Amino acid sequence: MGIIKIKQLVHDYLKHDEEGNIEGSSRAINKVSLEVEKGQFIAILGHNGSGKSTLAKHLNVILMPTEGSVWVNGKDTSEEKNLWEIRQSAGMVFQNPDNQIIGTVVEEDVGFGPENMGIPTEKIWQRVDKALRSVNMIAYRHHSPNKLSGGQKQRVAIAGVVAMRPQCIILDEPTAMLDPLGRKEVIETVRELNEKENVTVILITHYMEEVIYSDRVFVMDKGEIVLQGSPKEVFSQVERLKQYRLDVPQVTELAYELKKAGVELSDGILTTKELLDELKKQWMDRVKKENSR
Ligand code: ADP
Ligand code: MG
Repeated sequence: MGIIKIKQLVHDYLKHDEEGNIEGSSRAINKVSLEVEKGQFIAILGHNGSGKSTLAKHLNVILMPTEGSVWVNGKDTSEEKNLWEIRQSAGMVFQNPDNQIIGTVVEEDVGFGPENMGIPTEKIWQRVDKALRSVNMIAYRHHSPNKLSGGQKQRVAIAGVVAMRPQCIILDEPTAMLDPLGRKEVIETVRELNEKENVTVILITHYMEEVIYSDRVFVMDKGEIVLQGSPKEVFSQVERLKQYRLDVPQVTELAYELKKAGVELSDGILTTKELLDELKKQWMDRVKKENSR
């Protein structure tokens, strides 16, 4: 079984009237199944309200299934006895870095998680040290988190999760409130954790550029997974993505338009380099052809 397994998950939010009586329910997740293998980098894309956060909350047992099942590291989230083990296996990073930082000094903040886990003090400092290095924030260990940039704060929040040594990190739009530099810092940090420490990553985002390096992309719409595959496969489907109110990366869109206009290009071009390489090759072929006439 993968580190995460979701089977036919349904989540209904209950609606209450003014007196607090249940007056109905609305479906946020409708029969979603997916499996994530250890060490994978998974991206989940989807327009606002498509159910991404609801799905993420099931991985950390903030929510429980209305129907279906979720297993984290082989543990069923609907069994109460598994709660702490699951929360230690799967750490969560949220959108707003300000809501996640509680300490007045960076290293203290990062130490809270391991402290709550009952880790002995000297071990906590080792973990804090390593976690801060892994997010490139060791130089700020004695700083006040309040004075950091958004990207730096978010990296401290990630270090706080890393210090608990989870096997899997779920990031729910961690870059949504950051400027382009902060976004880049956070995504690079997450990629490094995945590549160097083999941490399984589930990145929820609506920035297309952030998913091009993932192993697999899942696209959600109206509570369902409507498209999945490698980034290349998913971004080949420009029209369908637009239908789900998602944009493709700019360079993919440009390649798509060029192709429509008759330029021979492969589908799902993801980077400027890929596009340039293909255009250059065609150009050279044409020059060669003309010269040989
Ligand atoms: P996303 O993260 O993709 O924007 P969400 O999971 O937050 O989507 O929301 C999915 C659907 O569930 C939306 O229609 C939203 O309005 C609804 N929803 C989210 N949270 C709650 C809640 N606490 N109570 C009721 N409905 C909710
Ligand atoms: Mg959300």
